[in-house]
Amino acid sequence: MLNIRIEKTTCPKELPAADNPLKFGTIFTDHMFLMNYETGKGWHDARIVPYGPIQLDPSAMVFHYGQEMFEGLKAYKSDDGRTILFRPDKNAERAINSNKRLCMPEISVDDFIQAVEAIVKVDEKWIPTKPGTSLYIRPFMFATDPFLGVRPSDTYLFAIILSPVGAYYPEGLNPVKIWIEDDYVRAIKGGIGEAKTGGNYVASLAAQVKAHEEGYSQVLWLDGKERKYIEEVGAMNIFFKIKGKIVTPMLNGSILPGVTRNSAIELCKSWGLEVEERRVSAEELYEASKDGSLEEVFGTGTAAVISPVGHLRFEDHDMQIGDGGIGEISQRLYDTITGIQLGKLEDKFGWTVEVK
Ligand SMILES: *Cc1c(COP(=O)(O)O)cnc(C)c1O
Repeated sequence: MLNIRIEKTTCPKELPAADNPLKFGTIFTDHMFLMNYETGKGWHDARIVPYGPIQLDPSAMVFHYGQEMFEGLKAYKSDDGRTILFRPDKNAERAINSNKRLCMPEISVDDFIQAVEAIVKVDEKWIPTKPGTSLYIRPFMFATDPFLGVRPSDTYLFAIILSPVGAYYPEGLNPVKIWIEDDYVRAIKGGIGEAKTGGNYVASLAAQVKAHEEGYSQVLWLDGKERKYIEEVGAMNIFFKIKGKIVTPMLNGSILPGVTRNSAIELCKSWGLEVEERRVSAEELYEASKDGSLEEVFGTGTAAVISPVGHLRFEDHDMQIGDGGIGEISQRLYDTITGIQLGKLEDKFGWTVEVK
């Protein structure tokens, strides 16, 4: 159990107006959670304080060698006023795995969830209520030793900030165009692809810029070794419906294990669909798209929940998926997951946690 000190702000900000589109990650709430770590002393000084800048030494190790990790989850307001988290234990477990890989200190699942619940409770009035909106929760940790040598830091700061976010697709689900990248790679087996860390994102930027210039909104990564097998979208995992079966790349050490990915697999299985976690090559997708057996493609991730894919670009081929619209499974998964998150549908799997 953490002993959390709470210092409330004396000048609360104005809440966003009801018609504010709440562009992702632009507005932050009144408070933040902070906690320090020091080798020998462990985690200490857990506190909730007014949101604001953090002072760091310019030599803080995170600035030079990138020792940092993050998580992402959401809080939702149900119609009857309850505050709901979706599978926060999964984020807490994944944070432990990221920390291990990045030589950073772990936070227990219970302490992680306690910290998330405490900060959400303090800024509960910031949870937006319009359909499709939620409060995005961003826990993160970074190395703070003032030192330019290369080794794991002895001191860290763990923080949680909150951001009210609008519907990812204000006009309802909207199919995206995705570029299959066969030059740059995001991660390789043995690297840090499985950890949720900034390093994987900086590695992805050049390809993202290229894809945008070509009119595609996101990049689909191939494996780093053979550049043949599909990995993931970089902030989303990817699913295909091929001849009636749901297919997704198996977790192989360089793919981030998404909570939404796991939820989609569980739901599809519960509906009696066959789900295959296996290697999928870009070539297989191209062949399936030519003979009409590539029936659906969608991404899964906390931000968009389900992102239908209307077009995939592979080498010189632009493949249209189905009629380029929203697939049946994509829509059903979106409706079911968001229904559970908002407390509208029965939570058969025990995925939701109420913040009291
Ligand atoms: C966070 C993330 C995902 C999606 O994970 P969710 O837990 O479903 O939000 C997928 N890929 C990468 C690289 C990520 O960082």
